[in-house]
Amino acid sequence: MRARLFVALLLLAAPASPAPQTPAAPPPNPFFSEWKTPFGVPPFDQIRTEHFLPAIEEGTARHNREVGAIAQSPAPPTFANTVEALDASGRLLEKVSGVFSNLTSAETNDALQAIQKKVAPLMAAHRDDIRLNPDLFQRVKAVWDGRAGLTLDPDQQKLLEEAWKDFVRGGALLPKEGQERLRAINAGLASLSVKFGDNLLKETNEYKLVIEKKEDLAGLSDRVVAGGAEAAKKAGLESKWVFTLQAPSLWPFLQGADNRERRRQIFTAYVARGDHGNDTDNKATLARIATLRAERAQLLGYKTHADFVLDENMAKTPARVYGFLDRLWTPAKAVAAREATDLQAAMQADGKDFTLEPWDWSYYAEKVRKARFDLDEQALRPYFPLDRVREGAFWVASRLYGITFTEQRDLPVYNPEVKAFEVRDADGSHLAVFYVDYHPRAGKRGGAWSSRYRGTWVEKGASVRPVVVNVCNFSRPAGDLPALLSIEEVETLFHELGHGLNSILSKVRYRGLASPPRDFVELPSQIMENWATEPEVLQHYARHWKTGEVIPTELVLKIKKSRRFNQGFATVEYLAASLLDMDWHTLAETKEKDAAAFEKASLERIGMPPQIVPRYRSPYFQHIFAGGYAAGYYSYIWAEVLDADAFQVFEEKGLFDPATARSFRANILERGGSEDAMTLYVRFRGKEPSVEPLLAKRGLK
Ligand SMILES: [Zn+2]
Repeated sequence: MRARLFVALLLLAAPASPAPQTPAAPPPNPFFSEWKTPFGVPPFDQIRTEHFLPAIEEGTARHNREVGAIAQSPAPPTFANTVEALDASGRLLEKVSGVFSNLTSAETNDALQAIQKKVAPLMAAHRDDIRLNPDLFQRVKAVWDGRAGLTLDPDQQKLLEEAWKDFVRGGALLPKEGQERLRAINAGLASLSVKFGDNLLKETNEYKLVIEKKEDLAGLSDRVVAGGAEAAKKAGLESKWVFTLQAPSLWPFLQGADNRERRRQIFTAYVARGDHGNDTDNKATLARIATLRAERAQLLGYKTHADFVLDENMAKTPARVYGFLDRLWTPAKAVAAREATDLQAAMQADGKDFTLEPWDWSYYAEKVRKARFDLDEQALRPYFPLDRVREGAFWVASRLYGITFTEQRDLPVYNPEVKAFEVRDADGSHLAVFYVDYHPRAGKRGGAWSSRYRGTWVEKGASVRPVVVNVCNFSRPAGDLPALLSIEEVETLFHELGHGLNSILSKVRYRGLASPPRDFVELPSQIMENWATEPEVLQHYARHWKTGEVIPTELVLKIKKSRRFNQGFATVEYLAASLLDMDWHTLAETKEKDAAAFEKASLERIGMPPQIVPRYRSPYFQHIFAGGYAAGYYSYIWAEVLDADAFQVFEEKGLFDPATARSFRANILERGGSEDAMTLYVRFRGKEPSVEPLLAKRGLK
C-alpha cells in the first residue's frame, strides 16, 4: 500500500501528467530494468506479487528467442556459438525465477502459491522446449562429436560434457512419441511436487496443541512456556498455551513435557501430516510422483529413477548406495536397541511401567542425558543467543578464509526479520551479499536451507558475484528472552553457513558448472558443524546472553563427552528415511502403489524398531517429493564420510591451519561442479576417503 501511494505522489509531482483521466499507472515492473540497488540485489521493496507472472512470461519468451537464434544460426556450430552461448542465455528468466523460487519457499502466501501452480508446468515445458529442440541438439551434437579436434580448456570440456549429458538425459535422443510422453510426465511431475509442498505447509500450519491447564506444562522450561504463551496470544487464545508442529515448538515440548498423553497427541499429529485422508492428503500424490519418475527413467533407458539420478552422483549405482546404508544399518540398530533398553530402565525408575513409545524417546533421552553426563540440553541455551552464534560462525569463516562479514542495514529485504551482510575477501574485494533469515513463519516451509538469488559466473572477463541466503526455522525470542538456540540449532546455523560459503567463495566460470553432485554438496556444510562445538571456538562465541559469561569449561567438556549420546537413534531414524527414499525410487514397475502399504513393507523389510519413526514418513518427505533429494537423501551420511575424513586433516594440522584452509577453499569451496568430485576431494586430501572416522564419530564401531 505504501509503495502505491509513493508512486502516486511522484506522478502528481511530475510537471505534465499526460492522461489525468486515467487512474495512476501501476509502478513499472522492476524485473524489466537493471537493478540500481547496492550490489544489484533484488529490490524487494519494489517487487509485487503481480510482477512475477508477466516477468516469467517475458523471460521465457526472451529465452526462446535467444535459443532460437543459436539453433538457427547460419554459422557452423562451434563451442563458443553453441555451448557457451547456451550457457549465457536466459538471464532474465533466471533473474525472475531466482526471486520467485526463493520467496515461494521462505515467504509464500495464497497468491504466490496460485502463481506457482500455474508456473510450474510452464517452466517444465520451457525446459523441454530447449532440450527437445532438434536443431539445437544437432548443433550441440556436432560440437560433441568433434570434441577430439577442439582445443578446450578443462572448464570448457566439462561444460561441453554437461551440456551433452543434459540433452541426452532430457530426452533429445528419443523418438517423437517418446518425447511427447516425456513432456507430459515432466509437466505432471512439476504440478504434483508443488501440490505436495503446499499440502504439507497447510497441514503443518493448521495443527495446534492448545493447553488450558497450567499443570499440563509441568517439565517445560520457562522459555518454552513463554514461547507457548506467545503462540497462544498470536492465535487469539489469551491465557492459554499453544504448541505447534514447527520444530522450535515441537521438539522442546517432546523433550520436556511430563504429560505423556500431551506428548502423544502432538507427536501423533506431527507424524500424521499429509496422511489424514482429507483433501490435503499426500499419499496419492507421492505414489503418482514415484510412478511417473519410474516411467520417465525407463523411457530414458534406465532401470529405475535411482539409476537415472545416481548416474550423476559420486555413488553411481543403487547397489552402492544400498550397500553403504546396509553396512551402517546393522550397527546403528544395535546401538539404538541398547539406548532403548536404557530409556526403558529410566522409565521404570520414574515409576512408569508402560512400554517405550516414539513419543517417549526424546523425553527419556533427556533424562538419561542429564543423569549420565550431568548435562541438561535446555540449560545450554542461555549460552547460545542467536546473534552471538551467528557471529561465532562468521568468526570461524574469517579465521579460516580471511573473509569478513559486515551488516548492511540499508539493503532491501523481503521480511523485516531478514538481515543482510556484505562479505569481503581478505584483500578487501567484494565477494558476495549474504542474507540470513532465521525464524519460522507461516509462509516458510520447514527445515533449513541455503540458496542463491544470483549465482556466480564470469562475464566479460569479470566474476559476477553472488547473492546468497540462509533460511532456517530457529527458536524465536520469547517473553524477555532473546532467541536462545539448542545445540542442534547451533550446528544447523554452522551447517547452512557452510553451504553459504560454497556459494560465496565460488569462482566458477560457467553457470552450467555451478553445482557439485548432490552427494558432494553436503561436504562443505557438514564439515563446518565440526567447528561449532570445538572448545576453542565455544570459548570464543558461547557467552551467556545476560551476564556475558563465557561458557564454563566443564560444560564444554560435558558437551564434548556427550556427543555420541543418542547416536543410535539419530542414525536409525535417518537411515530408515534414506532407505525409504531408495525403495520409492528403485521401483521398476509403473503400477501405482498404495503409499501406506508400501511404506509399511519398506520398514518391515529392514526391521524398523517400533520405538522409532523414520526421520521423514512418506507423506511429509519434502526432500524427496518436493525438493531435489529424490534417491539422494543418503547424501547426508555419504558426505559425512567425506567430512569426517576431511576434518581429520584440521584435527591433525590445527583447527585453523592456514595451508589446510587454503587448500580446502581452493580445491573444494571455489570449484562448484567444475570438475569430478572425487578428483577435487583427492586433490585436497591426498587420498580417497575412509569410512572409519565416520564410524568412530557416530560410535558405530
Ligand atoms: Zn545441507
